Amino acid sequence: MVFCPLYSSSSGNATFIATKSTAILVDAGVNALRIETALAEIGASFSDIKAVIITHEHIDHIRGIGVIARRHGIPIIANHGTWEAIIEQGKAGEVPFEKRIYFEHNTTFYVGDIAITPFETHHDANSSVGYCIEHGSSKISIISDTGTVSKAMKSHIAGSDILMIEFNYDEHMLKNGGYPAFLKKRILSAKGHLSNDDAAEVVAFAAHQGCRKFVLSHLSKENNTPEAAYDAAFQGLRECSELREESVEILVARPEKVTKPIII
Ligand SMILES: [Zn+2]
Ligand SMILES: [Zn+2]
Repeated sequence: MVFCPLYSSSSGNATFIATKSTAILVDAGVNALRIETALAEIGASFSDIKAVIITHEHIDHIRGIGVIARRHGIPIIANHGTWEAIIEQGKAGEVPFEKRIYFEHNTTFYVGDIAITPFETHHDANSSVGYCIEHGSSKISIISDTGTVSKAMKSHIAGSDILMIEFNYDEHMLKNGGYPAFLKKRILSAKGHLSNDDAAEVVAFAAHQGCRKFVLSHLSKENNTPEAAYDAAFQGLRECSELREESVEILVARPEKVTKPIII
């Protein structure tokens, strides 16, 4: 499988995943033109994309879906709660009815030869999810916006080859930064976002379960730095005595550009 974050930050997220015969996007939170540009950079195009699967309705995850569905005819897949919220807020433009695909909670579905298992996350959205994405014996897990990582979520990500997880904020930077108090409270809450330290703990867990490739995603531009996120993940992994440094790969997903693709 090929795994490649195209954009990753609080202002827009889209990730490309492909097998030899099937390609999908997870989220389309920047406009369609920018996604098209990023796809071209990795030698792909919208004509390769079989579906876009959505984590939740916040604009940094769905901005491009209206144009992608209407102009490129690509199905958009989300659960019932997320569709309800997308339609009600009406921010991403019309998605034609026949391009709206619904999935059920905790039920694996397939796009081509890719198996996709959604699992509940804890975020201030209607019905947010993370995904396990599998093909053959390869497994990629994606945890985006969530305030906490529950035991149930951890059991889903066990055995992943790649874990992409939100490293949203450095706690010290957020608490001492210029955000208004209500926003700090929202981000810090159990239905907000993950701090570097929270996420590093999950990275360590996944490493114990055999994961060796970590992609740190959705960094806040105001409350984090790539260095702070990387250091936190590195510290988390140092506590895993069974790891040899050279066997581990940590990538910080780039906010406005394509991140180096990982092939597993
Ligand atoms: Zn987000
Ligand atoms: Zn969100």
